[in-house]
Amino acid sequence: MVKQRFGQHFLIDLSVARREVEYAKITKDDIVLEIGPGKGVITRLLAQKAKQVIAIEIDQRLVDKLKTALPENVTLISGDALSVDFQTLPRFTKIVSNLPFEISSPITFKFLESSFSTAILIYQKDFAERLVALPGKKEYSRLTVGVSYKAHCRILEDVSRSCFSPAPKVDSSIVELTPCEKPMFNVENERFFFELTKQLFNHRRKKIRYTIKALYGDLEQLPYLDQRVEELTPAQIGELSNVLWHLK
Ligand code: SAM
Repeated sequence: MVKQRFGQHFLIDLSVARREVEYAKITKDDIVLEIGPGKGVITRLLAQKAKQVIAIEIDQRLVDKLKTALPENVTLISGDALSVDFQTLPRFTKIVSNLPFEISSPITFKFLESSFSTAILIYQKDFAERLVALPGKKEYSRLTVGVSYKAHCRILEDVSRSCFSPAPKVDSSIVELTPCEKPMFNVENERFFFELTKQLFNHRRKKIRYTIKALYGDLEQLPYLDQRVEELTPAQIGELSNVLWHLK
């Protein structure tokens, strides 16, 4: 039985699975992390190319079936990928996954805390569009700003919902996520930057002046007070956060 709460939409179009793996350009030197191997469609393809695959699956019934059905170079871990300490895993070089939609945001930020060269990920299409959105677009969000601080994102292709079973309500996209060696712009205090970004996007249509005033009082010396956060680039939001961090 398929468990809705685990975002179980299994890939049934093998050509999509093959392309997903091809995009990652895996060699025998790579150790690949996969979140949610499901029935192992992508896992088996990864195992043919990689030195080792580390697959984390939350559903114990699937783990029990996979245990005896995967090649030797797959290390299967039973558990919630959000709780597994990635530091305890062998040092993976790439990530390839058809992600459970429910954990898209936290798992993406968790990936960006670790070190790897590239990730090829299937997300819901609307989530993927938020990852790559430009300022001024309705998809431009706190997610866009947070991820683009640490990585480049590119949509490689859209995938029809009919390629999955059971079919989800929306289409998906394959996304390439490439972490930058150092953050894309200077941020003096990351926690403050993320919190400020959240507060500003909670009032995305308000002039920044009014949100800041409600939170910190009158601070006329700040930049961008007469703009809305949805118009600012991630770097400008970083700049605002740095000035505010020193003033408050
Ligand atoms: N990789 C398979 C495929 O492409 O057919 C399955 C993909 S399905 C979209 C997501 C998989 O992630 C399911 O097997 C589900 O049980 C698993 N999953 C859901 N939440 C998880 C979590 N927090 N940690 C690890 N696996 C999870």
